[in-house]
Amino acid sequence: MAAWSNWSGSVRARPAEIARPRTEAELARIVAGAAKLRVVGAGHSFMPLCETTGTLISLSELEGEIAFNADKSRVWAPAGWSLAKLTAALWAEGVSLINQGDVNPQALAGAIATGTHGTGAALGSLSTTARAFRLMLADGSIVTCSDTENADLYQAARLSLGLLGVATRIEIDVIPAYHLEEKIESHHIDAVAERWDEMVANNRHAEFFVFPYGDQAIVKTLNPAPSEGPMEQMNDMDDRAFRVICDLCSALPFLTPSLQKLIVRPGIRQRRVGPAYQIFPSDRTVRFEEMEYEMPRANGWPALREAIAWIKTRKLPVAFPFEFRTIAADDIWLSPMSAGPCLSISVHQYAKMPWRDFFAGVEPVLRAHGGRPHWAKRHTLTAADVDALYPNAGRFKTVRAAHDPSAKFANAHLASLFVEGA
Ligand SMILES: Cc1cc2nc3c(=O)[nH]c(=O)nc-3n(C[C@H](O)[C@H](O)[C@H](O)COP(=O)(O)OP(=O)(O)OC[C@H]3O[C@@H](n4cnc5c(N)ncnc54)[C@H](O)[C@@H]3O)c2cc1C
Repeated sequence: MAAWSNWSGSVRARPAEIARPRTEAELARIVAGAAKLRVVGAGHSFMPLCETTGTLISLSELEGEIAFNADKSRVWAPAGWSLAKLTAALWAEGVSLINQGDVNPQALAGAIATGTHGTGAALGSLSTTARAFRLMLADGSIVTCSDTENADLYQAARLSLGLLGVATRIEIDVIPAYHLEEKIESHHIDAVAERWDEMVANNRHAEFFVFPYGDQAIVKTLNPAPSEGPMEQMNDMDDRAFRVICDLCSALPFLTPSLQKLIVRPGIRQRRVGPAYQIFPSDRTVRFEEMEYEMPRANGWPALREAIAWIKTRKLPVAFPFEFRTIAADDIWLSPMSAGPCLSISVHQYAKMPWRDFFAGVEPVLRAHGGRPHWAKRHTLTAADVDALYPNAGRFKTVRAAHDPSAKFANAHLASLFVEGA
């Protein structure tokens, strides 16, 4: 038995074996021979998506290279490559991903399997950029799917939580390489609320972070810009001071509200320009637990205000800020963005502080505003909730059952949501 844990430390598993195949032939032998298995990317999910007592497969050592189509608008990439490795390789070839989230250690397949996204009203999740998959099915055979080949399998694979098979290569959209200007500014939360729609409309990417007890928000905007030479500062924010504050909140929780008023001062102004693949991600070294809900754009502000009020009324020590982002609508069966353009609210807590009761209290607030959870982040949906919230859940389950009738790729958590009769 091997020991495995996710990034935040909240999911611990004892898989029978952790396998790191180097070739598809080796992978096929492992997949065909296993009774139960899960694939892991970088283990950055907060839900027990990779938990298994069977075989845990990592594709980090699987051989493979990137291969472009004729006009370099699409690339086939090894599914196990981290976004960090992939985006650096793409940059060297003069192309970039259309959008990225906050960090880049995730495997390409892990990010796509969960609908990982960044911010941008006109920009969809990474799953929306997946054009085709090379998938290994439960018997070790390989199938390719796209909107013209095995179309139902493709629709399900665009956000699959690893329930259909092992993606070994994924074809994604790319665009010519670009630089981004990042601006980080502190503003009173009421001023941000007043100007939010304008900020969203006027910037390719706009988002903000706000602490429950602070009245200043940290607003971050990104827009394409000409290069200004090598970047001096690789990270958006220095989190050394933040770590000290989180440890203080953990040791002396009653100090949390006053410390938060000190963290974000009025008048913060920061600017840098760099390659998109280096500006999007930052090192997040202070570990946290996270819940995130996507909801109709108009419901974002009332939901945020209610969630903050819920925390303040109970005087709960919540050390981390909320994150507020936009995501374009998509048509993916299990995507929380499939109902229309979304506002995304992320709720975080320092990993060393209690989060379960706090998340359990805020989750109904976000759900009452039409929220559907990010599948990789903490949520308590049941099978009935999935059916009620996702009109296409039945289609996903039919495709899953057809390709993996023995539910080899399901673990207890996922079987409870997607395997009929589990
Ligand atoms: C610090 C931090 C920052 C984050 N920032 C963001 C953000 O900005 N935006 C956002 O949307 N999310 C964010 N997330 C969530 C993260 O993007 C998702 O949890 C993502 O799934 C993690 O990728 P991973 O490679 O670690 O996948 P894992 O957690 O390892 O796996 C996720 C799922 O993918 C499946 N999978 C992995 N590889 C394969 C494969 N080859 N074939 C089939 N299935 C596979 C797994 O079985 C599992 O179901 C963040 C998480 C952390 C910890």
